[in-house]
Amino acid sequence: MSGWIAIAGLGPGDAALVTPEVTLALAEATDVIGYIPYVARVAPRAGLALHPSDNRVELDRARHAIDLALAGHRVVVVSSGDPGVFAMAAAVFEAIDHGPPAWRSVDVRVLPGITAMLAAAARAGAPLGHDFCAINLSDNLKPQALIERRVALAAQADFAIAFYNPRSRARPDGLGRAFAVLRDVCADDRPVLFARAVTTPEEALRIVPLPDARAEMADMRTVVIVGSSTTRTIARRGTPFLYTPRSAS
Ligand code: SAH
Repeated sequence: MSGWIAIAGLGPGDAALVTPEVTLALAEATDVIGYIPYVARVAPRAGLALHPSDNRVELDRARHAIDLALAGHRVVVVSSGDPGVFAMAAAVFEAIDHGPPAWRSVDVRVLPGITAMLAAAARAGAPLGHDFCAINLSDNLKPQALIERRVALAAQADFAIAFYNPRSRARPDGLGRAFAVLRDVCADDRPVLFARAVTTPEEALRIVPLPDARAEMADMRTVVIVGSSTTRTIARRGTPFLYTPRSAS
């Protein structure tokens, strides 16, 4: 049988949110490649080789997947959430783009998954109901100045904004700087959702107004959604509902 690559999204955590298409690809696979905690979400079985690797080696992982597929293996490259959102799909295409011409004949498919901001938005209500954007706060692959420029322009454009990779031990104050940029542009009633480990047993949601938002409220398992100027909270017992009306003001 000839080899292939499926670049698959495992969703935000809950097994019920893994698509049947991804489950089928994993059942047919001979090899699974990905970051250690994502590969750990795949059940081991006879005939399936698991290749967990450390973070920050995306291109090595992509080349490994292509080599295996061209040698006849059926390879699933796993990401959390959706593989096209700050994840492995772009790395595989970058490897193909810069690799030898023979790599272009590899059979590659991208299998979408539910990305963190959509899972978080669904838990809170509908904060992404109008125009929105997503910004990766990790400065591994881009300069901090570019991040802050994008945050400022997104706020000026009045998008709701989802921040991925908001905080890590190596980068404790990037989110604090993003909040400082937002406070220059946004009114004080702007709601900020901290959605941690959504759809897992450790899930925690918290909504605070922008002036009360602190970087310490997030960690690497948190996606942060900042509302637009029209985003509203509906107070009730427990966490309020958060939604953005579909019409612009
Ligand atoms: N491809 C993934 C994103 C990878 S970047 C996706 O589409 O979701 C990793 C970041 O995603 C984390 O730092 C966090 O901001 C976010 N994230 C992933 N899973 C999450 C979850 N279950 N709950 C909250 N945020 C999550």
